[in-house]
Amino acid sequence: MKIKSIEPIVVSQKLKKTFHFSQWEYSSRTICIVKVTTENGTVGWGEGYGPAHIVKSAIEFFIPYIVGKNALHNEEVWQEMYLRSLDYARKGVMLAGLSAIDIALWDIKGKALGLPVYSLLGGKKNEFVKPYATGLYFSNGGDCKNSLIDEAVSYKERGFMGIKMKVGLGVQKDAEYVHAIKEAIGNDVELMIDSNHAYSFTESVLLCNKLKDLEISWFEEPLSPEHYDNYRQLRERTSIPISGGECEYLSYGFLQLFQKQSVDIAQPDICAAGGITEVKKIAALANTFGVDLVPHTWGTGIAQHAAMHLISNLDIIPGRMYKSVPWMELDQTENELRDKLTKPLTELENGLIRVPDLPGLGIELNEDLIDRYKV
Ligand code: MG
Repeated sequence: MKIKSIEPIVVSQKLKKTFHFSQWEYSSRTICIVKVTTENGTVGWGEGYGPAHIVKSAIEFFIPYIVGKNALHNEEVWQEMYLRSLDYARKGVMLAGLSAIDIALWDIKGKALGLPVYSLLGGKKNEFVKPYATGLYFSNGGDCKNSLIDEAVSYKERGFMGIKMKVGLGVQKDAEYVHAIKEAIGNDVELMIDSNHAYSFTESVLLCNKLKDLEISWFEEPLSPEHYDNYRQLRERTSIPISGGECEYLSYGFLQLFQKQSVDIAQPDICAAGGITEVKKIAALANTFGVDLVPHTWGTGIAQHAAMHLISNLDIIPGRMYKSVPWMELDQTENELRDKLTKPLTELENGLIRVPDLPGLGIELNEDLIDRYKV
């Protein structure tokens, strides 16, 4: 089962409508996926999270070191990639390249053995995942409160049990918008907020105080990901659970996040933090520190399926007869690549997604369409 070829592919789609968040604007979606083929013709798909052309370069860097290795020995391949990049890439985009290849090898292993990835991970401890809708980005300029309310209500009507909205427009405006959304959707749908590290410690405390009477399920990335101690101090000042980790890498990075008691909920991105192999270890580490884990998930159906398999395998601690169903992030922003390259993941059963039992990641890529989007 030797790896024969590794092909990074950058796909891009210009958006009909731009949207922005606290850091920058999106006018297109550009993503690097990877196709790994073995000598017997088995194909696995992976995806990296980060600037697509740099992810592509990262994948190309690893190719000469791992072509010819046994695709089923995915940890051995992971170790080779890790050691080849360790001296200059303990965090960042090189690890997105590593993650993409790692995910593709899990897909290959599952297909080769006729087993879904969750089986390879040790089984489906969670039959369902509970998607929350990620959306409510800002449109360009002016007041967007009413359009955000309409969008939030549409997610509730579609059966989502959780909605995550962007904040980062300034403490006053955020507080006004969050109150308006909460009033529109009520308390039977959970609401999370995400500033993408837009705020200082003082501003974060002010915003938390203004939202303290609302039921907010978590405040994601309130602060710069470098400010581990400020995260802990914020947790001491608010009853709102604090989450973070989409800009963190490897179990070593998450160990720091946990030892500093920075977050209630850790959010590694499987396509960046080290692939399925490493995020399984990060999940084990989170368990030992009593921290919940909800992976950050962006990009195409490859990323979504990788997340779904990993989440279905998560330990839910503490156990109880009526245990909770783990969250899964389900991006709702405009993205044809996500909706068309694979069959979209949108079938809700009472607000939940049943984890499918197909081999590997359980996806078929529409390769004809790749040519349409390929850069
Ligand atoms: Mg986020």
